[in-house]
Amino acid sequence: MTATLLWLRQDLRLADHPALQAALQRGDVIPVFIWSPEEEGEWQPGAASRWWLHQSLAALATELEKRGSRLVLRRATRSLDALRDLLVETGATAVYWGRRYEPLVIARDADIKNSLRAEGIEVRSFNTALLIEPWDVQNLSGKPFQVFTPYWRKACTAIDPPKPAAAPSRIAAPARWPQSLALEALGLMPNIAWYGGMAEAWRPGEHGAAALLGSFLGGPVKDYAEQRNLPAVSGTSRLSPHLHFGEISPRQIWHAAPEWRSTQFITEIGWREFAHHLLYHFPRTTNAPLRADFERFPWREDAGDLLAWQHGRTGIPLVDAGMRELWETGWMHNRVRMVVASFLVKNLRMHWLHGARWFWDTLVDADLASNTLGWQWAAGCGADAAPYFRVFNPASQADKFDPQGEYQRRWLGSGSRPAPIVDLKASREAALAAFKTLRSSSTDE
Ligand SMILES: Cc1cc2nc3c(=O)[nH]c(=O)nc-3n(C[C@H](O)[C@H](O)[C@H](O)COP(=O)(O)OP(=O)(O)OC[C@H]3O[C@@H](n4cnc5c(N)ncnc54)[C@H](O)[C@@H]3O)c2cc1C
Repeated sequence: MTATLLWLRQDLRLADHPALQAALQRGDVIPVFIWSPEEEGEWQPGAASRWWLHQSLAALATELEKRGSRLVLRRATRSLDALRDLLVETGATAVYWGRRYEPLVIARDADIKNSLRAEGIEVRSFNTALLIEPWDVQNLSGKPFQVFTPYWRKACTAIDPPKPAAAPSRIAAPARWPQSLALEALGLMPNIAWYGGMAEAWRPGEHGAAALLGSFLGGPVKDYAEQRNLPAVSGTSRLSPHLHFGEISPRQIWHAAPEWRSTQFITEIGWREFAHHLLYHFPRTTNAPLRADFERFPWREDAGDLLAWQHGRTGIPLVDAGMRELWETGWMHNRVRMVVASFLVKNLRMHWLHGARWFWDTLVDADLASNTLGWQWAAGCGADAAPYFRVFNPASQADKFDPQGEYQRRWLGSGSRPAPIVDLKASREAALAAFKTLRSSSTDE
């Protein structure tokens, strides 16, 4: 039989997996995960993501074993080296994988594709993560979109994903398995067990994802449009980490929820697609503002204020509640993400990258496409961004979206609270004044 290496990355599932399906048609399948964080540079998985990844790989290995297969684990500083070793050790003649869209990963994968093809190996990549590829949506002049509404309108005319394939019941195994590291040897779990809150809040893996989608479609989706902004209510799907790690695909969601396709819930999945569209077409935005005039923005540096924000000690109740939810569970409600981000970049006037990096380390759903979009949106320097002069007032946001204070009490408890580190009104005015200097020196508008 002809054997194929199935290189699993952010597609840690067995259902709706086009690369797995294609490998099965070829013959024996050798599923492999290679841990090589150095190749992802500054944006390699953070601490919360590593915790999730460990659990997700364990769940995937169990599912593979039930089907007569295994998950082969390797550690490498270059994935290409690990793949070459595996090709030699197994005699496999092809490598299949699901695409990723982060700039460094795209460059690495292109290099691997070229190198292995030159050595006579069949290499194929598949769309395992998106409803539509970033390059398949263009405006009338053939350019990428920078505004969500026309992007999504256009994308929806083209989205027509095939029905998802079920997880195979058997996966043909090679006659001899290559060696694998033990999962613990990847060192993904922290030395200090700070993850109790996360372990309580989540069930990583394909089954956990399917269960969440089932319960969400069985109830909360009906009231999503009204309840999605209320952080005290479980009104959203909480599928973001599962989607990031590919434990569930947006195509599965699309087909599981045909009656919700034109509603706000699927539109939010559209924001995830848009984030990937932007990351693919504007890769520099992971570290630089999409709107170049923001390069000159007079950001403040203040290590003490940053620490207070990170640890939920700003004295602004909704901000502190959100930052504590994040620390405790690895997730934060979207409305509160917008509020804490606005507070950091506007009231504290600190660079959005400080916020993006903290989220990167602490979110279980940390995703380079969505996190970059979210932070640039909040800072007013990205695509479709909230205008800089619209400063969220965390106190009125709390009155509107947490009117009983339930969410704030849940995360702050009833102990004494620190005094606010800034005056909301004065800091808002300082932010607007800083923004004005930018506009008066801008040559773009
Ligand atoms: C500053 C900031 C940073 C963010 N960083 C991330 C991140 O690193 N990873 C991440 O997945 N999301 C990020 N988001 C987007 C959003 O907050 C989360 O996707 C959402 O809260 C996840 O909860 P849910 O799964 O219950 O969402 P639901 O409301 O149930 O939405 C369903 C799915 O749609 C997608 N989605 C929803 N809103 C957005 C959005 N605004 N942008 C992109 N995709 C979206 C997610 O995949 C989500 O799971 C960020 C938002 C902000 C304001």
